[in-house]
Amino acid sequence: PPLLEMRSITKEFPGVKALSDVNLVVRPGEIHAICGENGAGKSTLMKVLSGVYPYGSYSGSIVYQGSESRFSDIRASEHAGIVIIHQELALVPGMSITENIFMGNEPRRFGRIDWKAANSKALELMALVGLKEDPDTLIKDIGVGKQQLVEIAKAFAKDVKLLILDEPTAALNEADSRHLLDLLRGFKQRGITSIMISHKLNEIEAIADSITILRDGRTIETIDVKGEGADEDRIVRGMVGRDLNSR
Ligand code: ADP
Ligand code: MG
Ligand code: MG
Repeated sequence: PPLLEMRSITKEFPGVKALSDVNLVVRPGEIHAICGENGAGKSTLMKVLSGVYPYGSYSGSIVYQGSESRFSDIRASEHAGIVIIHQELALVPGMSITENIFMGNEPRRFGRIDWKAANSKALELMALVGLKEDPDTLIKDIGVGKQQLVEIAKAFAKDVKLLILDEPTAALNEADSRHLLDLLRGFKQRGITSIMISHKLNEIEAIADSITILRDGRTIETIDVKGEGADEDRIVRGMVGRDLNSR
């Protein structure tokens, strides 16, 4: 059975129908790419999934790990192991890597933060994502590539099962992007399922097991990369709604 099924999701903002009957099926252990042009509804769909837009503010259903999920907020989805990393990173620039990784959920002993345990756990999580900084380094003193890694370490501090990344490489250079894609492949080996929003075809082809294409708030198709071959023309045609060659 799938890990996640979003069925017929419709989400409106005043004057804008951002999603119309969108379907998404994610298999356990896969890397699922969601692609589409700017404004296609990608971020909105993931905000519906993660409880940013709570149950009741959209129509349709979310079936996660076999049962209907009605997340009332982000905490509820995180409790179920769904962690989203938004395009705008949610880090506090003036706080350390360790503080950002735990963000108030530091390990405690006798009611007080146990900094020794926090630092060693932080180091463990940093090693997992390949971050070699001093954990006391402030977020504002590291580059965007490393900040993205702190966000991922933060996700693992929360016991993530389904990791959602919204255009994670948009602001990254080539080397940082490659490192991030390698990490996702490594997580997959450990059984973590990922959803990655992207419109970079090279990236999608390099990493995705399945691709769901959205356009104008609708699901165009889902392509099983191994089964059918995801040729670029087909993806681009899905994203823009016509053949680019026949212009
Ligand atoms: P994508 O992530 O694919 O670029 P979005 O999900 O951000 O697309 O947006 C889909 C549509 O919904 C767009 O038309 C966008 O302008 C609109 N939209 C997104 N968020 C809001 C919001 N908070 N309020 C009003 N309209 C929104
Ligand atoms: Mg956008
Ligand atoms: Mg977006």
